[in-house]
Amino acid sequence: MESILERLHRGDVIVGDGAIGTELMKRGLRQGDPPESYNLLKPEALEQVAALYLASGAEIMTTNTFGASPLRLRQFCLEKDTEAINRLAVEAVRRAVSRKAYISGSVGPSALLLRPRGDGEPAEISASFERQIRALVSAGVDMICVETMTDTAEAVLAVRAARVVTPKIPVMATMTFRKSRQGFLTMTGDSVRGAAEALLGAGADIVGSNCGNGMEDMVSIAREFRAYTRTPIAIQGNAGLPVVVESVLVYPETPEFMAAKTEELLEIGVQIIGGCCGTGPEHIRALRRTVDARR
Ligand SMILES: [Zn+2]
Repeated sequence: MESILERLHRGDVIVGDGAIGTELMKRGLRQGDPPESYNLLKPEALEQVAALYLASGAEIMTTNTFGASPLRLRQFCLEKDTEAINRLAVEAVRRAVSRKAYISGSVGPSALLLRPRGDGEPAEISASFERQIRALVSAGVDMICVETMTDTAEAVLAVRAARVVTPKIPVMATMTFRKSRQGFLTMTGDSVRGAAEALLGAGADIVGSNCGNGMEDMVSIAREFRAYTRTPIAIQGNAGLPVVVESVLVYPETPEFMAAKTEELLEIGVQIIGGCCGTGPEHIRALRRTVDARR
């Protein structure tokens, strides 16, 4: 199987998967329980979700390890299971996709706010990322995905941790931005350009954005990334911003709308396109059709 970076460097576009948590809830995960607990309790559910996205045309499968850094697992007294939780997630996806898709090891925020905003010590947070990433890499992921980061400094620690574990593995780093009067900014006030420069400086191979915005704003964010870098860009948008309908959260953007916005992302040269909160197999199927039609 050609490596993901080889494919990107020859200009190919790769379709990512959609939300995992909502699919696990359909398979019994209760609101409030850590999704990563399923890696220990019900790995067959992870396998089913990966199979579903593979059938929808996704070629990058994210592991259910967003919250599987030891610092974050500590909140649920699962820190001691860090290695098992990460390994079981990778193994479940591998059973479902074999070598037909890349496995992307998800690494989310640590749950501590870095100093001076909180009391998170950089050394402690780095060590936590390193332990998780080491477990993911030993289990055989094809890439590391540092995602949904709102503090650029923390994302930089995660990218560097991946580089400490192995200099070779492809590292994708995607930030979550908020629209403000000063343009799109991270929670800590970094612009798209500032974030891109910091992530690339830390050694990321792919940069971009996931979560926090619907596809319309993601197109603007992608354009900003493209203005600053020729590095491959990844965009995994939400199906809009959730609205409450009869006390249920609903994400309003349809697969057709995402497909239309995918056209624009392709125009800009975005090379990894997938979904985040509120997206499901139908959204990924629509993205897949758009990408294939363009080939
Ligand atoms: Zn999301």
